[in-house]
Amino acid sequence: MNQFDNYIDGEWVRGATTSANLNPSNLDDVIGEFAQADDAQTRDAIAAARRAFARWSLSTPQQRFDLLDQAGSVILARKAELGRLLAREEGKTLPEAIGEVGRAGQIFKFFAGEALRIGGESVPSVRPGMTVEMTREPLGVIGLITPWNFPIAIPAWKIAPALAYGNTVVIKPADLVPASTWELVKIIAEAGAPAGVINLVMGRGSVVGEAIVNSPDVDAVSFTGSVATGRAIGAKCFATGKKFQLEMGGKNPMVIVDDADLDVAVEACINGAFFSTGQRCTASSRLIVTEGIHDRFVDALKARMKALKVGDALADGTHIGPVVDDRQLQQDERYIAVAREEGGEVFGGERVEASTRGYFLAPALVTNTTAAMRINREEVFGPVATVIKVKDYHEALAVANDTEFGLSAGICTTSLSLASHFRRHVQAGMVMVNTATAGVDYHAPFGGRKGSSYGPREQGSYAREFYTTVKTSYINPGAV
Ligand code: NDP
Repeated sequence: MNQFDNYIDGEWVRGATTSANLNPSNLDDVIGEFAQADDAQTRDAIAAARRAFARWSLSTPQQRFDLLDQAGSVILARKAELGRLLAREEGKTLPEAIGEVGRAGQIFKFFAGEALRIGGESVPSVRPGMTVEMTREPLGVIGLITPWNFPIAIPAWKIAPALAYGNTVVIKPADLVPASTWELVKIIAEAGAPAGVINLVMGRGSVVGEAIVNSPDVDAVSFTGSVATGRAIGAKCFATGKKFQLEMGGKNPMVIVDDADLDVAVEACINGAFFSTGQRCTASSRLIVTEGIHDRFVDALKARMKALKVGDALADGTHIGPVVDDRQLQQDERYIAVAREEGGEVFGGERVEASTRGYFLAPALVTNTTAAMRINREEVFGPVATVIKVKDYHEALAVANDTEFGLSAGICTTSLSLASHFRRHVQAGMVMVNTATAGVDYHAPFGGRKGSSYGPREQGSYAREFYTTVKTSYINPGAV
C-alpha cells in the first residue's frame, strides 16, 4: 500500500497515524494511506514556516516568480495524470477534474506574474516637501484550511498568492481528499521552495485545523468550507488576533424570465445545478422561474436530466460522478425527504445502481416549492435543485435576495435592461448573465456577501488585500 507523508521543513515525515483515502466511485479502490498529523507535528510545521519566513519574506520577486512559474508549468504538463487522481479521490468526472487541474496550473502562472507586479503607490503629502508612499509587505505564516470539493484548485488559489507575496504556508487539506494537495505540495517543493516555505499537515480538522487556528505563531488563516466551521474558526482567529478570510456556503439563485432563450436557460441550469455532482459553493440550487415560461422550462429541464449519465467518474460518457462520501449522500437524501414533506414534487433523486460500490445519486429537481421552505433556505451541497414559480421579474429578484447567502447569482434573459437591473440589484458577490452560476475565471476576484464570505476577495490581483499588509511611509527629504 502506498503511504504518503506530511511535508515539514523540507522533509517528508511520517504522521502520528494514517488514514485510507477511498475512491467514491469504487470503495474497493484505496488510493493510499495518508499521514495524520497530531498537535505536536502541526506545531513543528508552524515553527518551520516561522523560521523560513525570515528569508522568504525578503526573497526577490524574481525568485518568487521562478518558483511559481515552474510549479505552474509542471502542473499543466501533468494535468491528465493529476486529473485522473483528482477524479478518483473526489468523484468529479475526468474532464471536470482535468479542467480543475488546468485551472490550478494557470493560477500558479498568474500569481508568478503578480509577484513581479506587486508595486506600490505614492501620493504628494499635504505637508510641504514631504512624500507619502504606500508599500505592501507579507503577513507572515499563513494557515490554509481547505474543503473536499476542489482538492487542487482551492489549495492552489490560496498557496500561490500566499507565496507570491512573500508569506510562508502551513496547509491542511480536507481529510477526505489529501492526494491532490499532496501532489501539489510535492511539485512546489521540487520546483525549489526553500525548506519551511511550504508545509503540509494532513489530518482531521478537529486536531490539525484546531492547532493551526489556535497557534499564536500563525499570522493569518484562509478557510473555505461550511458556514458553521467557518464561523467557529473566525471567532477563534479574532480571539487570537489573526487576520482571517472565510469562503463559506451558497444558496445561489438562477432567475429565468419569460423572454429567456429556453435552450440557454436549460443548459445553464444543468451545468450550474448538477455538474460536479452539485458539490460547488456556486451551484444553482434555486431556479426562480416566471410563470409564462415555467411549464416549458420544467419540461425541457426534466427531459435534459433524463439524458444525464450518472456513474464512475473515470468512465467515458459519465456526466455526473458520485457524491463524495456516505455522510454527504445521507445529507442529500435527507434534504430530498424534507422537500417532499414540505410539499415539493421530486423528480429524480434516487440512488443509481452500478457495478462498483459507490455513492451514486441521480440528480433531483424539486418543483412546487416556495421561498420559505427549508429546501430553499439551507445549503444541500448535492445534485439537488428546486424550482420556485413567481409572477414576474420583480418577484423573482425579491426571492433571489431572500436568503442569508450571497455568493453567486444568475439571470437568463434576452432583455438588456432586465440583465442590467439584476446586475445592479441582486445581493451577490458574482453575477452571471445567460451562463451558469458556477464556473469562474482564474484571474478575476471570487467571493460573496452576507453569510457566504467574510474578508477580502480571493483570486486575481484582489488576493493581495488578504495576503499582504500595507505600510505607509512619510519621507522628508530634508533641506535642499
Ligand atoms: P467543513 O467546513 O467541516 O470542513 C472544511 C475544512 O475545515 C476541512 O479541511 C475540515 O477538516 C476543516 N475543519 C473542520 N473542523 C475544523 C475545526 N474545528 N477547526 C479547523 N478546521 C476544521 O466542511 P465538511 O467537509 O465537513 O462539509 C460539510 C458541509 O460543508 C457540506 O455538506 C457543505 O454543505 C459544506 N461545504 C461547503 C463548501 C464550500 O465550498 N462552500 C466546501 C465543502 C463543504 P476535515 O476535512 O478534517 O473535517
